[in-house]
Amino acid sequence: MIRTGQDYRQGLQDGREIWMDGERVKDVTTHPAFKPIVDVRARMYDMAHEPAYQDRLTYVEENKRNTIFYKPPRETKDWTDKLEAVDLVMKDIGGVVTRVGDETIGEVWSLIDGRDVLAEFDPRFADNVDRHVQNIFDNDIFHISANTDPKGDRSLPPQEQDPDMMVHVVKETDAGIVIRGAKYETAAAYADQAFLKPTVGAWTNETLSDYAVGGIISMSAPGVKQICRSSFAGRTNPQDYPLANKFDEVESLVIFDNVLIPWENVFFYRHTKAAQYIRATLHRYSAFPYVHRLLYVADMMIGAAMWNAKQTGLDKLQSVREKLADLVCYREGINAHLTASIALAEKSPGGLLMPNQSLLYAGRVHGCSNLPAMMHIARELCGGQICVTPNAAAFHNAGSGDWLKKFYTLNKQWEAEDRRKLLAFARDLLNSDYAGHRLTFVQFAQAPHFNHLNAVYNAFDFSGPLDFVRKAAGLSDKVTGKVASAN
Ligand SMILES: Cc1cc2nc3c(=O)[nH]c(=O)nc-3n(C[C@H](O)[C@H](O)[C@H](O)COP(=O)(O)OP(=O)(O)OC[C@H]3O[C@@H](n4cnc5c(N)ncnc54)[C@H](O)[C@@H]3O)c2cc1C
Repeated sequence: MIRTGQDYRQGLQDGREIWMDGERVKDVTTHPAFKPIVDVRARMYDMAHEPAYQDRLTYVEENKRNTIFYKPPRETKDWTDKLEAVDLVMKDIGGVVTRVGDETIGEVWSLIDGRDVLAEFDPRFADNVDRHVQNIFDNDIFHISANTDPKGDRSLPPQEQDPDMMVHVVKETDAGIVIRGAKYETAAAYADQAFLKPTVGAWTNETLSDYAVGGIISMSAPGVKQICRSSFAGRTNPQDYPLANKFDEVESLVIFDNVLIPWENVFFYRHTKAAQYIRATLHRYSAFPYVHRLLYVADMMIGAAMWNAKQTGLDKLQSVREKLADLVCYREGINAHLTASIALAEKSPGGLLMPNQSLLYAGRVHGCSNLPAMMHIARELCGGQICVTPNAAAFHNAGSGDWLKKFYTLNKQWEAEDRRKLLAFARDLLNSDYAGHRLTFVQFAQAPHFNHLNAVYNAFDFSGPLDFVRKAAGLSDKVTGKVASAN
C-alpha cells in the first residue's frame, strides 16, 4: 500500500510528546520548525500517487502497489530504479533531504539478512522480523534509526555510571520488556517508528546483556519523550536562507522513560551475538543512499560555484577552471563508487543484492571525509560576497534597494535580484549555521570517521595485495603461516 501525504500527516497527530526550546509542540504538521520537512515527506507520499511519477516511484506485486524505495533489492534494476526515484524526488523538492525513510529502510534489509542469526536464539524473534518487514511494506511506514546513546563518562564501565546513559532493559513482563535510556535520532519527531539497537561496545560481554536489546519502538508509545534541538526552519526569511527553511531535518534526544516493547516488537534481547551481528551489518545497504545524497550536495556546490564564476566571467580563467574540476572530481568519485558498487554488487546472506561492500564503504569515506575541503573550494569560488551581501529586505526596500540594484547589477544577463538569489543560496549551502550543521550531519550521522574506516578495513579483501607482494618480493610460503617451518 502507498500512503498519501494526508495519511502521513494524520498519522503524526497521535499525541506524541515533543519538546522544542522549552515548549511542548502541539502538532508537528503545523509547527513552523517541522512543517517544511513534514511537507517534503508528505510530498514524497503524494508523488507516488501522481500519474506523472507513479510508475517510477512504485511497483506492483501480488496486486499490491508499494513504494520502490522500500523494495528489497534482488537485481541490478532494483538499484537503478531506486536511483531514478531519488532523482525525481530531489528535483521535485529542489534540494537535498537524507533521512526520509528510503535511507533507513536499508537497516531493515540488513535485518532480513540477520533473521537466521536471530532465530538461533529464539525463533519468535525471527518471526518478529518477518512480520515487521511486511508491515513496513504494507503500510508504507516511515522508519528511522535509533543507535546512539548519550553514553555518559566512557572511562567508566556502564554499570558504574547512571544506567540510563545507555538503553537497557529494566523489567521483563508477560507483555514484553521495559526499557530505560535515550537515543539521538534524526527525524524522530516526524517519523512513525524507530529500529532501536545498542551503541557499539555496550554489550560486548554477557554480564552486560541487559544492554543487548533491539526492536521496534513507536514514536507515540507511552513513555517516549522527545527533546529536539532548535530548528533552522522558521526563524529566518526563506528568501535569505532558502535551504534551511525548507530542508531542516530536526534531531531529537528521544527519551525512553520505562517504555514497554511488546514481545512481538523485540528482535533480540540478552543475545550479544545478535547485537554484534546487527551492528556490524547495519550500513550494508543504508550507506548507499547516504553517500548518494552527497552526489546532490556536490551538484549543488558545482552549480553554485559555476554560476558565480560565470556571472563574473571568471570561468574563463584556467586557475578557476581547475578549482571547478576539483569539485567535479569529488562528484565523479562519488558517482564512480556508487556505480561500481552496483555493477559489482554481491549476494547477501539473505539472498538480496547488496552493493559491493568494499567499494561502497570506500566511497563513503571519499564522500564524507572530503566534503569539508570541497565546501572550502566552493566557498572560495563564490567569493566573499556570500558573507557580505545584505538580506532580501534591504534589496526590496526603499532607501537601500536602489543602491543595491545599482551595485549588484552586472549586465543585462545578470540583474541584481538573480545575483541576490544565487548568493543567498550559496550562503545557505556553504556558510550558514545550517550549512555547518549539515556538514556535521554528514560526518557523524552514519557513525564517525574512525568507524567508516573500520568498515573499509573489514570489507576489503586484503588477500589480493598480500599475495601479489608475496610473489613479487619472492617471499617464502612460510609467511602465510600455512606451511610448517622446517624447524
Ligand atoms: C546531525 C547528527 C544527526 C545524527 N542522527 C542520528 C540518528 O538518526 N540516529 C542515531 O542513532 N544517531 C544519530 N547521530 C549520532 C551519531 O551516530 C553519533 O554522533 C556518532 O555515532 C558518534 O557518536 P558520539 O557523538 O557519541 O561521538 P563520540 O563517540 O564521543 O566520538 C567523538 C570522536 O571521538 C573519537 N572516537 C571515539 N571513539 C573512538 C574509537 N573507538 N576509536 C577512535 N576514535 C574514537 C572520534 O574522533 C569521534 O569522532 C547523529 C549525529 C549528528 C551529529
